Amino acid sequence: MRLPVPFFMKKALVLFSGGQDSTVCLAWALSRYDSVETIGFDYGQRHIIELECRRNILEGIARIDARWQTRLGEDRVIDLAWMGQISDCALTREAEIAMRSDGLPNTFVPGRNLIFLLTAAAVAYRRGIDTLVTGVCETDYSGYPDCRDDTLKALQVATNLGMNTRLKFETPLMWKSKAQTFEMGVELGGKPLLDLIVEYTHTCYMGDRAHRHAWGYGCGTCPACELRAAGFKAFEASRQD
Ligand code: ZN
Repeated sequence: MRLPVPFFMKKALVLFSGGQDSTVCLAWALSRYDSVETIGFDYGQRHIIELECRRNILEGIARIDARWQTRLGEDRVIDLAWMGQISDCALTREAEIAMRSDGLPNTFVPGRNLIFLLTAAAVAYRRGIDTLVTGVCETDYSGYPDCRDDTLKALQVATNLGMNTRLKFETPLMWKSKAQTFEMGVELGGKPLLDLIVEYTHTCYMGDRAHRHAWGYGCGTCPACELRAAGFKAFEASRQD
């Protein structure tokens, strides 16, 4: 008789965008959970390159470790195109990236991360998954209030009250710098994972995949590229010590 999936199997759902942070989170989850599914969101980004990068990363990461290959489960991309109707910002419309008078970059989409997490929580509920993993970070963050530790903790409470669940929100990068995130990637998956991150993950706001730097592809001048370049430089310097 075929036994059902054991109830004690540790299952995680990773919010996976195809960026550096969520790729390290995916490796983190693959090294800890018996079963790992991924979820991405299509919300009419100015560049859908990040979504294309996801596929290459999912294929590549499974080849790094035999256990990871068996643990990596279903991937789904949820269409959140309706968000285009309520957001008007530099990431979803053609516009110059700049700082607003309140200190937030004009790339800020109000509530975006809350919507992603709540959507992921609903999927986790249906899939019998009790852990969400997200690469939000308060250390290097671009000023997004929906990536703060307090926001995540409050949302975890609200979600569990609203769904009558005990879903855990794991944020392994919350207090890490970009350099430490590169370091964590090496600890988890060695050089193969570092190479995968550099070659396939995408963070450039401009969607530039034409210019290759030591740290990966990007325009090199947008805030996301600057953060990634500086992080990689610090990471390289720490390795030479
Ligand atoms: Zn860029």
